[in-house]
This record gives sequence, C-alpha cells and structure tokens, in this order.
Amino acid sequence: MLENIRVVLVNTSHPGNIGGAARAMKNMGLSRLVLVDPQDFPSHEASARASGADSILENAQVVATLEDALVGCTLVLGTSARDRRMPWPMLDPRECGVHAVDRAAEGGEVALVFGREYAGLTNDELQRCHYHVHIPSDPDFSSLNLAAAVQVLCYEVRMGWLASQGQSKRADKVEVASPRSEQLSTMDELELFYGHLESTLVQIGFLNPENPRHLMSRLRRLFARSAVSQSEMNILRGILTETQKAARGEPHKRRSEDV
Ligand code: SAH
Repeated sequence: MLENIRVVLVNTSHPGNIGGAARAMKNMGLSRLVLVDPQDFPSHEASARASGADSILENAQVVATLEDALVGCTLVLGTSARDRRMPWPMLDPRECGVHAVDRAAEGGEVALVFGREYAGLTNDELQRCHYHVHIPSDPDFSSLNLAAAVQVLCYEVRMGWLASQGQSKRADKVEVASPRSEQLSTMDELELFYGHLESTLVQIGFLNPENPRHLMSRLRRLFARSAVSQSEMNILRGILTETQKAARGEPHKRRSEDV
C-alpha cells in the first residue's frame, strides 16, 4: 500500500540531497522516488549519501516536468517552508501522513512534492497541489534541509501506516468530502479540465487573458478542495463543451436527463 505513495523532488541541485531523501524513504518503507529535472543525477554523491538505499535511486523515475510526475495521482501534497501569497488548504505533517495513508489504502495514488533547495516550489507548482504541508519549524529559521524535510514527512507517513495496521495510536482521521465509493479524478484529468475551463472562460468573456488576475488560481483552489470524482468530472467537461457550443451559437441538446 505504501507503494501508492511517491516522493517527488523538483529540480534538486545537490545530488547528496537526492541520496539523503532515498535513505529517508527506505528507512520508512517508501520506495517510489520521482525526480523532476534534477541538476546532477545519477551521481556518486547521491549513491554515497543513500548508504544502502541504492535500489531506490536505481528505480527512480526521472521526468521533465511536475505534470509528468503527477500523472495518475488523486492526492498531491506540496511542501512549503513559508507562507505564500495565496492561502491554500493546509495540513500539518501528522495530518498529511494520515491522509496520504487513507488515500493509498483506498487504492489512490499519492504524491508528496518537495521543492528546490534555494527557492522551494513556485506558486504555479504549489497550485497543482490539493494541500500544502508546512513543518511547524521556528518562523525565524523555518527552512529545513531538503532531505530532512523528506525524512519528517516519510516518518509521519509511516506513523499513519502503523496506526492503520493497528500497531500504534491513531491520529485523528482527516475528513475530506470525497465520494468514497467513486473513482476520483487524477491530476492529469484535472489539468485537462483546467485548460478546458480557461479556454471556455476566455471564450465567453469571463476571463480577460490580458488581465487574468488570480481567477484560475482561485478556481484551482476551489476544485483542489472538492475531491472531484470521475463522473463529476464528466459532467463538468460536458457543461464546458455545451457552453462553448452555445457561445458559438450552435444548437445544443438538453443534457440533464443523462446525468
Ligand atoms: N528557500 C526555500 C526553502 C527551500 S527548502 C524557500 O524559502 O521556500 C527545500 C524544500 O524542503 C522545500 O521546497 C520543501 O519541500 C522542504 N522544506 C523545507 N523546510 C520545510 C518546512 N518547514 N515545511 C515543509 N517543507 C519544508
């Protein structure tokens, strides 16, 4: 079940941190590492720091973009060392561990996403996440070493997993309004939807591409909170398609009976 939880490192500059993250993962029983455009990998330094967790490095998947790393995921947890301009649904590391394990146990794919050593994750990358996770460090010195941050979250995932096995006291379950019996939309389906939504909003004159303000960010946040199922996604995509037809003056059919 922990195989459903992947650790994603974005644009890491120091190979030692990749090795340190691999070791932290293996200690806690996690195995799936995805590297988005790493600056120096494979590398001897990564293997040296992995000290025995080489299998994780050997099996690491290297991809070009965060979008590629999140294919198939229904829960994406993005880590951040500091507050960002746009407030987002937040989890503390303990809630993150419980929520990740709950989703993985349902068969969903989960990603824990970590940023660059010097700049963290960009706002655009953070807006691809359902939740943000902040390790409650001292605000005057809030940024942990990347591999140390990976260690903290992998530990919390392990605690959540042990609790789910009845081996340790259970932290409070995070309640999300997810349609449990239905398949949730994946990140790639959500990205296609956001593209469709944006072009429709431009077409009907609701979104001015010259001055988009924060409209798409706010809408991403709304849907990130919503745990959209695949059947709900089909309805949303159908509404957009019909809206576009109506905007072009094409005839449309009544759909509500099909839903
Ligand atoms: N200077 C960067 C810090 C990046 S630290 C910034 O201000 O954002 C590298 C990565 O480690 C971060 O992107 C995040 O993934 C993780 N990290 C470090 N400290 C963290 C904290 N307190 N909470 C959550 N993640 C943290």
